[in-house]
Amino acid sequence: MVAMDQTAVDTLKASVRGQVIRDGDADYEAARKIYNGMIDRRPALIVRCVDVADVIASVNYAREQKLPLAIRGGGHNGPGLSLVDDGLVIDLSRMKGIRVDEKARTVRVEGGCTWGDVDHATHPFGLAVPSGFISTTGVGGLTLGGGVGYLTRRYGLTIDNLLAVDVVLADGRLVTASADENADLYWALRGGGGNFGVVTSFLFKLNPVNMVYGGPIFYPLEAAPTVMKRWRDFIKSASPDINGWVGFHYVPPVPMFPQEHHFKKVCIITWCYTGDMDRAEEVFKPIRQFGTSIMDFAGPIPWPALQSLFDALYPPGLQWYWRTDLFNEISDQVIEQHMKFGAQLPTGHSAMHLYPINGAASRVGKNDTAWSYRDANFVEVIVGVDPDPANNPKMIQWARDYWEALHPYSAGGAYINMMMEEGEERIKAAYRDNYPKLAAVKAKYDPNNLFHVNQNIKPQP
Ligand SMILES: Cc1cc2nc3c(=O)[nH]c(=O)nc-3n(C[C@H](O)[C@H](O)[C@H](O)COP(=O)(O)OP(=O)(O)OC[C@H]3O[C@@H](n4cnc5c(N)ncnc54)[C@H](O)[C@@H]3O)c2cc1C
Repeated sequence: MVAMDQTAVDTLKASVRGQVIRDGDADYEAARKIYNGMIDRRPALIVRCVDVADVIASVNYAREQKLPLAIRGGGHNGPGLSLVDDGLVIDLSRMKGIRVDEKARTVRVEGGCTWGDVDHATHPFGLAVPSGFISTTGVGGLTLGGGVGYLTRRYGLTIDNLLAVDVVLADGRLVTASADENADLYWALRGGGGNFGVVTSFLFKLNPVNMVYGGPIFYPLEAAPTVMKRWRDFIKSASPDINGWVGFHYVPPVPMFPQEHHFKKVCIITWCYTGDMDRAEEVFKPIRQFGTSIMDFAGPIPWPALQSLFDALYPPGLQWYWRTDLFNEISDQVIEQHMKFGAQLPTGHSAMHLYPINGAASRVGKNDTAWSYRDANFVEVIVGVDPDPANNPKMIQWARDYWEALHPYSAGGAYINMMMEEGEERIKAAYRDNYPKLAAVKAKYDPNNLFHVNQNIKPQP
């Protein structure tokens, strides 16, 4: 346990309205738990902030006391970069305010919201922000790293819908970043992660999304080569209002699936069509000819229901190990490699997903935001997941071997939101020629790298 100046801690406690939690306090063990059960870090202090003033006080405290500082949004980050040993955690999870402006078609979201919170607030208006593929993920981390999801092909990455942010900087000042104010910071925050400050609120553009036609279609694993080739050829030129990601999974042993399929390895495509609902059946005719499915759940579904379809399969506290890459092409050779490792899925929750990112996201220039890979067509994610830590060695080895086999075919970079801690070269590869500008913006707004518990960009004027 790190030695703390008690007077300073008391001053911090007196200056915030949220809860200050120390090692040994009743809430400490619960407060240091995050989504990935593999992460076991012991912060010196966790401040559950309730407002911007709390965030400012916490940033100032960490800087003055020279404590490592971490920022917790939804706590979903794979390598657990929302926690830090012997440091201070700014926990935003109590900052849940959301305000929809229906007329302006915008939503203001505080830093502690999950995407489920946002969907709940915007759905009554038939509006949505492009997010990810699960509702429990935090708005903070997902947005600042880019944001790939069901609506990417239609409305772009999450950052392409980010109009402005309020951010507490390393010196404790609160500033707004938008196209008109602190434009360099606004550029860097759209993909640069938690490097530049604590975002206390996000202003997003809203898009019309209400009932969609979607859900997973399941195929036997043996059918995957044909299904994947047809999916690849289809999605590369499909209308932007259709999205479908392909993946390998085990069928979970739950009543919604017939017992004969339980524990079987399958290839799935999970679809989301946001076009004219009257045309949906027609749109899905060619899709339904990709192969003979064993289960077909695609149909009309409210947007928030599609977004939360996988929540129950992935409750908090499981062990997670991530690998990721970006791809321009999914060649037949790549599909062969996928088949080899798909057949070896190591545990019941482990999976591989390929998300299309062409369409609206690729209409933004690669230097227009910090997120560089606008020219890539797919994000690949390989996750070893299991409740039992005893299975970690085998699922980690599987994910590493799978990634190694596929990496030579990749576009070369990475998506920072789906990485573990993989070293500086990999971070630089994620940003390509945007890295020097990011380093310069970092030097301007955080010259001493106070915000370094993240996929870190080193300040370089
Ligand atoms: C089950 C699951 C599904 C996922 N699905 C998707 C998906 O579909 N699409 C996708 O793009 N990603 C997805 N991800 C990855 C996700 O984007 C990252 O894990 C992201 O880091 C999660 O954000 P968070 O706020 O929940 O995490 P946290 O761990 O709280 O935060 C991650 C990092 O982001 C920064 N950060 C968070 N909030 C703030 C803030 N307000 N201000 C400044 N910095 C902040 C900090 O550096 C922090 O360490 C998924 C992750 C999981 C576990």
